[in-house]
Amino acid sequence: MGVGPCKGSVTLAHDGPTTSSNQDAGANKIDDKTVPQNPILPTSNSVPIRLGQTEMQQHDLQERAKVIKKHFPKALALDDFISRTEVALAGYGFTGENSIAMSNLCRDESCIMLEDKIESIFGSCFSTHGLGGVLTCGVVGIKAGLSHSPIVGGKEQYVFFSFPHIAIDSAGEVGKISRPNRPGASSACGALSACLGIFKAEGLDAQCKGPGVHDPLDPELSILRQRLARRLRHEKKDMKELDLVGITQAAERTITSDLEQLIEKAVDTSKANYAVFTGVQIHNWAADVNKDDGPPSLEFVSVGKSYVCINGERTYLDVSMVPSLAPRQLRLLATASSGAAEEQPSSNSVVQDIPRSALMRRVGGVTGRSAEPVAVSKPADGWQQFVKTDFQDAHPNAPKMDDKDA
Ligand SMILES: [Zn+2]
Repeated sequence: MGVGPCKGSVTLAHDGPTTSSNQDAGANKIDDKTVPQNPILPTSNSVPIRLGQTEMQQHDLQERAKVIKKHFPKALALDDFISRTEVALAGYGFTGENSIAMSNLCRDESCIMLEDKIESIFGSCFSTHGLGGVLTCGVVGIKAGLSHSPIVGGKEQYVFFSFPHIAIDSAGEVGKISRPNRPGASSACGALSACLGIFKAEGLDAQCKGPGVHDPLDPELSILRQRLARRLRHEKKDMKELDLVGITQAAERTITSDLEQLIEKAVDTSKANYAVFTGVQIHNWAADVNKDDGPPSLEFVSVGKSYVCINGERTYLDVSMVPSLAPRQLRLLATASSGAAEEQPSSNSVVQDIPRSALMRRVGGVTGRSAEPVAVSKPADGWQQFVKTDFQDAHPNAPKMDDKDA
């Protein structure tokens, strides 16, 4: 058995190098303006009722799952997906004790909800995260993680998880996510939204310039843009038809083939077994997470490629065929992995909500049972009186961080 990919491995169509060309300044802007806007009916409360999804429907977890499946038919609730994946992997000998998890997600802090679930099985991940989930770590970067794998029974074992992400909020708004202690809607994935806006405005050819050059001030976004543009041009996609769901699915295909190319270069199957799970992470959070009595926040995963490679032999897995755990078992796992021992998710189905306190604490850093931000006051006689806020005239004894001979 030699260095290289598994026997019978399949490489997706690949359309060019992983580098990009210089782009116009401003082409890299990531903001909410690039998210396609759906009609919104103004209401008096803080959660706007969008067309198609009433407030009552937003509290119905099965209704919420139906909305997600309209966009992503292979979506599973996060805890359901992760428990089936763990069962399937254990069947092929991959456990937290003998494997390292290699996670490739977007840099967005909201992606921690999936990362936490992976780490609840495998311990701390080796991360290759990039904007939009773009892979820029290269072969050496991947190899660095592989070299940290446990060796139990003579072989290293790696489990690759690769998921670009998208938000579809509780009201069904595609691209919208509410963030702790930030008023209004934000976007996810901002990097993919930005690419979508640029592709629609400028077309794909403009983004497929000479290989070998990327924007040094925006290396990740410019590489992501070029990789996606080449893929979409290769697939002959009509830019007029492309939406955020479509570009996110294209990102999943592109990043998966990039990951498989890196695995081919980095993994020695005579010394290691590995598994690959790809897909799209879907944040189905409350349209206003800062509201106490709003609808629950959910997470889903749209299942992509899933396989194990043991002794160089690849076996494809269908996690939808792995039986779900019972709701009670899922609740226990969901509660333990979200760190919300005092507050159990309320669902009696495979769709489990994220306890609001856990979401606010994990993503927003908010502490306390109410999950409400606490105003910080400065006591007049506390240590804060010594903190200098006028930096025009630094304290004479203050350390000077840029002194060359300090
Ligand atoms: Zn993102």
